[in-house]
Amino acid sequence: MNPMALTYDQHFQSAIARLKMEKRYRVFANLERDAVRFPTALWRPEGEEHAPREVTIWCSNDYLGMGGHRAVVDAARDALDRHGAGAGGTRNISGTHNPIVELEAELSDLHGKPAALVFTSGWISNLAGISTVSSLLPNCLIFSDALNHNSMIEGVRRSGCEKQIWRHNDVGHLEELLKAAGNERAKLIVFESLYSMDGDIAPVAEIVALAEKYNALTYVDEVHAVGMYGARGGGICQREGVEDRIDIIEGTLAKGFGALGGYIAASPAIVDAVRSYAPQFIFTTTLPPMVAACARAAVRHLKHSGEERARHQHMAMLTKHALRAAGLPVMDNKSHIVPVMVGDAARCKEASDLLLRRHSIYIQPINYPTVALSTERLRITPTPRHNEAHVAELVEALVDVWSSLGLPFVEAKVIPMRSRAAPEAHCTYPEMKRAAE
Ligand SMILES: *Cc1c(COP(=O)(O)O)cnc(C)c1O
Repeated sequence: MNPMALTYDQHFQSAIARLKMEKRYRVFANLERDAVRFPTALWRPEGEEHAPREVTIWCSNDYLGMGGHRAVVDAARDALDRHGAGAGGTRNISGTHNPIVELEAELSDLHGKPAALVFTSGWISNLAGISTVSSLLPNCLIFSDALNHNSMIEGVRRSGCEKQIWRHNDVGHLEELLKAAGNERAKLIVFESLYSMDGDIAPVAEIVALAEKYNALTYVDEVHAVGMYGARGGGICQREGVEDRIDIIEGTLAKGFGALGGYIAASPAIVDAVRSYAPQFIFTTTLPPMVAACARAAVRHLKHSGEERARHQHMAMLTKHALRAAGLPVMDNKSHIVPVMVGDAARCKEASDLLLRRHSIYIQPINYPTVALSTERLRITPTPRHNEAHVAELVEALVDVWSSLGLPFVEAKVIPMRSRAAPEAHCTYPEMKRAAE
């Protein structure tokens, strides 16, 4: 070996050592998903000889279990048989395959927008969508919510445009900044409809009203809402009746729709411009036909079926209720996300390990930089495929882990299932931070 290589390697080793010291080195569990028996999966403990173990998944972003849905799996298999494995190249080289044309038509219909464009992931759609739209506008000023996802931040960065960060979900602050920028300047407001770590929902109607008042374009990431909210699964903006007043809707096909890929839906001019200018679209091979076909099947199914959405919300409510009744520090929100505060990276990891090893429950620890330091948490995502028995097991396991690790309980409150509006029944975020200290 070239002796010089050692000095290079030391830099990588010390970079990894830093993460380990900060207790945020990530280890991935080897989990084999079971399409039929989801949320049950097989876990293969690393470096252990014995047979894989059955575990229950409680943190999947396949929020509705669509990844294993019959219609979705059949659509993929049918497309695979007919069209083979890959797409054969970028759309510039290989043309556009029919399943992706059909998928884009399905998505533009889902959001009531005249056009849609599919990318290889939601991350790429944000990078491409935000950077291309804003860089094609003269001297565009971007207003970005303080808690926007990494893919949106990268999109803003890549645009090279001036940006201003508005305090999370604070429309008063947004208005101040918009007013100061003046009506003449090109402006793009970028935000998420549902923030996935706290599970809080943006005041979309107020943001849209401000955009209209100050003549700004709006770009919303509906990644954690598509499939799950709105009468046809179009997301929070659809539920709030403001979809037609949003300029660009971005979504993923990988979470509620259970497949892979991302997209934007917007006016024909915006979609055509992004298609024509975004290198993240132009220079990469498009999704294979089978992925486009199964994503389309999921979108189509959820447009017409509200059953999964209703049961999803029901299971999320039931889980929150049961955990709170057991005195576990569940953060308050009005969505399907159930964050349970730990407030310390090492203990969050320990809690997750103990859940898996002792209770066969998989909940990945959420640590910095995904969330702020001292707000490390377990992020629980009930699906329509979980049942009451799963919830009972989860409560028992978490109570045992909390007791074993000496994590603080909050005062147990029994909340009547149908009155989740009662404010005194909820733990608020700062209270929980204190409780965890
Ligand atoms: C997961 C996520 C993305 C990226 O979507 P992928 O399809 O997984 O690449 C974009 N935005 C938000 C808010 C996300 O949580």
